[in-house]
Amino acid sequence: PGKILRLELENFKSYKGFQTIGPFSGFTAIIGRNGAGKSNLMDAICFVLGVRTGHLRGTQLKDLIYAFDDREKEERNRRAFVRAIYQLANGAQITFTRAINPTGGSEYSIDGNLVNADEYNGKLRSLGILVKARNFLVFQGDVESIASKNPKQVTALMEQISGSEELKRDYEELEEK
Ligand code: ATP
Ligand code: MG
Repeated sequence: PGKILRLELENFKSYKGFQTIGPFSGFTAIIGRNGAGKSNLMDAICFVLGVRTGHLRGTQLKDLIYAFDDREKEERNRRAFVRAIYQLANGAQITFTRAINPTGGSEYSIDGNLVNADEYNGKLRSLGILVKARNFLVFQGDVESIASKNPKQVTALMEQISGSEELKRDYEELEEK
């Protein structure tokens, strides 16, 4: 498997202007005071890898752009992007960039070439990047929320994670026969 070597962010959430995060080595821990941008960094990773989950759920893309002070910049110039510089298992590098344009639309590029969402997600999938993201990304509050579930809710969660949820209907239908 490959790994993210570093991230380049521009105007993404609390990351104002252009900022490079990394390089990341084998194991990375993100530390910082409350509000420093730790969760926003996780959101950036989810965003660039096309994962719709956790904090990003139900968020308008425009809200992910750094909230400039009205005097700082013309509204029409406000854009954001997250770029992941990814190293493949064979050592080759590939960059994935997902941008939000001022109207709130997404733009995708691979190695600097614009592609559509299907091509972008298809490439991520073909490289085996985050195919099962929902299985291993644990967000702030998730642990507490799991700990306070009742047994039925825990079972439902496990069914969701294992993927057996998708087969549940078939299973129940067969059981009735
Ligand atoms: P905690 O330890 O409390 O979990 P954290 O390091 O995870 O903190 P984040 O949630 O990543 O913190 O960052 C929160 C900060 O990001 C808040 O101050 C919030 O105002 C800021 N923020 C979020 N979205 C934007 C945005 N679009 N523009 C500017 N700032 C933003
Ligand atoms: Mg946080």
